[in-house]
Order: sequence, then C-alpha cells, then structure tokens
Amino acid sequence: MNAPAEPPLLPLLRQLIAEQGPIPVASYMALALGHPRHGYYTTRDPFGARGDFVTAPEISQLFGECLAIWCALVWDAMKRPLPLRLAELGPGRGTLMADVARTLERIAPALAQGATLHLVETSPVLRRAQEAALRGRNAAWHARFDEIPDGPLLLVANEFFDALPVQQFLRTAAGWCERCVDWDAAAGRLAFRAGPPLPGAVPHVLAAAPEGGVFEVSPAATALAGEIGARLAAAPGAALVVDYGRRAPASGDTLAAIQDGRKDADPLAAPGEADLTAHVDFAALAHALSRGGAATWGPVAQGELLTALGIKQRLAALAARATPAQIERLESGARRLIAREGMGTLFLALAAATPGLPAPPGFEPLR
Ligand code: SAH
Repeated sequence: MNAPAEPPLLPLLRQLIAEQGPIPVASYMALALGHPRHGYYTTRDPFGARGDFVTAPEISQLFGECLAIWCALVWDAMKRPLPLRLAELGPGRGTLMADVARTLERIAPALAQGATLHLVETSPVLRRAQEAALRGRNAAWHARFDEIPDGPLLLVANEFFDALPVQQFLRTAAGWCERCVDWDAAAGRLAFRAGPPLPGAVPHVLAAAPEGGVFEVSPAATALAGEIGARLAAAPGAALVVDYGRRAPASGDTLAAIQDGRKDADPLAAPGEADLTAHVDFAALAHALSRGGAATWGPVAQGELLTALGIKQRLAALAARATPAQIERLESGARRLIAREGMGTLFLALAAATPGLPAPPGFEPLR
C-alpha cells in the first residue's frame, strides 16, 4: 500500500520551524485552517453527508427558521430600525443565512426588505457556495467583521468561534510554558513541545495544576468579541453566538481534529487536511462582549433556545403539509438539534445586545 501523500502544508511548516524554532499552537492552528493556499478552509467545502462534519443548519431548516424568529423579535424590541445589517460570521455553505432570509420574507417582510445581508468569510471556496445559496438577494461579503458598514446590526454566528485559533499553555517542571509545535526529526512528524516559560500567563487558580496540565485561551475570539461589544454599544443591535464549548474557563486541552467524520483524528497528522477546532470559552466571550460595551445573556443550551423559539410548533406546521418522507426527515432533524444527550446540550447560545434592550427571546430570566 502506498503511504498517503504528504499534505502540501507540511514542508512549509517544517521550513518555518527550521527558521524560527517551534511555533505556538495558535500559529499552527491559524496556518492549518487559513493558509492562503493550503489551509483547510481555503481549499475545500467540508460540509455535507460525505464531508468532515454536519452543522445545525445543514441538519435542518428548522434551525435557521428559529433564528429568523429570534431576529424578528429582537428587531421589534429594537423599535424596528431600518436599514439594518443582517450579518453572519463564518457562514459555511450559506444555508443558515438563506433559511433566515427566506423565513423573514414571510414573517417580517419589512425587515427582509430593509435589510442588507453581510457575510464575513475568508474561504474563497465557501464564499462561492454562499453566493450560490444567496443568489438574487442583497448581499455583500467581507473578510473581517469590522468591514461591515455602520448602522443597526443583527449578527449570528454558528460554529464560528470554535474555528478561531487557541493559544495553549503547558504546565512543566519549570512552570507554565507556551505549548508549541515542533518537528520531531527522529519520528519524521510534527510533535507538541513546551516553549519558553511564561510566568504570569495563566490565572492564579491554576498555579498548582499538575505537570502536563494544559490551559487554553483564544485571543482571536476575545478580541473579536470585544469589537462586537463596542459596535453594539455604538449602534442598536444584537448578536447570537451558538457553538460547542464550556460555561466557565477550565484547564484541559480541547484542540481536536475532525477528518472524514471522525472527531478523534491527530491534530498534527495532516495540517490543512483536517478541520481543527477548540471548545469555546463562553465566559471569556461574554466578558469580552461586555468589556466592549454590550449587555450579555446566557449561555443557555441550544435545545432550550430552540424550544423557546418554537421549534416544535414550527415542526408541526411544516409536517401538516409534508410527505411522510419529509416528515421523517424534519422530525429526526429537530430531535437531533434539541437532544438532551447530544447537540441540544453540547451546544450553547450566548446573546449580546445594546444596553437597555430587553432580554432577547430564549434568554429571559426565569420567573
Ligand atoms: N456557520 C456555518 C459554518 C461553520 S464552519 C454552519 O453552521 O454551517 C466555520 C466557518 O467559518 C467557515 O465558513 C469558515 O470558512 C469560516 N471561517 C473560519 N475562520 C474564519 C475567519 N477567521 N474569518 C472569517 N471566516 C472564517
């Protein structure tokens, strides 16, 4: 049997390491996902049944329909400002935005007509897929969030923040060090290695962590959340972030590689050919959003949010005029999105808005 072909990114990484020494995990993740020629998202469409993973909007149109209801209700609470920017970070195949736009045309036609769509996407391959999904709609593409023109804003992001690079710290006998990626010449492969000690980089409470312990932060995620918070403080708006992650910072290495539907691939084995993700630290995101100036709510479990937004009622309405095969698909999709032992609890939703707006739907305090 032939050995699998070497990923084109590997010799480039080897050269970089030869020149600069071991590279931080965050730089490795940024290159593996976003290298302009060989990055994972630059070169492929990872979605769909044969792809590496399936996201909520690809599982069921009910996800986007519920998020459209969220947008319409929040827009109402904002006193219906127009024109409005309806924006998405990391829109994948464009399925979510297409479902949201289609639903808004029906339930809030004034919003649908007065909104311009803004897609923040770095991958040329996925941008083409989004253009096809949104053909005929008033849409613009941007490489970065801060390119979205000023004005009232509704922003959604599903499975976006987990793709942003994490910086990792490793507890060694010499103290906390930045975790880096090195070339192991003897083994002929990439390997994790502790970089120089970084005293003070890790919160106090973890000072006593055992040797081998890992602590993660995502400066890219918190910097972006801070920008979003500042924007929501400057103009009316709201944001909804859905992703898998944790409610509070914790020690532990959550960097994972997903390839051919397997979630346990080696993150260093095939740079540029496997998806790399890390759990989102929702406490850090909420903190950065509020430091930027926004009010925040949650996180709540995805299943709770979708239930509060009426996924079951919407399912019943669709089922009333669907074929048996369609009903089966709609029901299994809805079950998957809200499953207590699955996506319904693994995925969390965080909301942020201009201070003074009421709690968004699905985030109301319990009475
Ligand atoms: N939201 C989609 C896709 C999630 S995958 C869904 O739910 O199906 C992550 C998406 O974020 C992809 O579209 C990827 O190309 C994009 N992406 C990753 N890093 C990015 C970055 N730094 N800036 C903008 N888009 C990015």
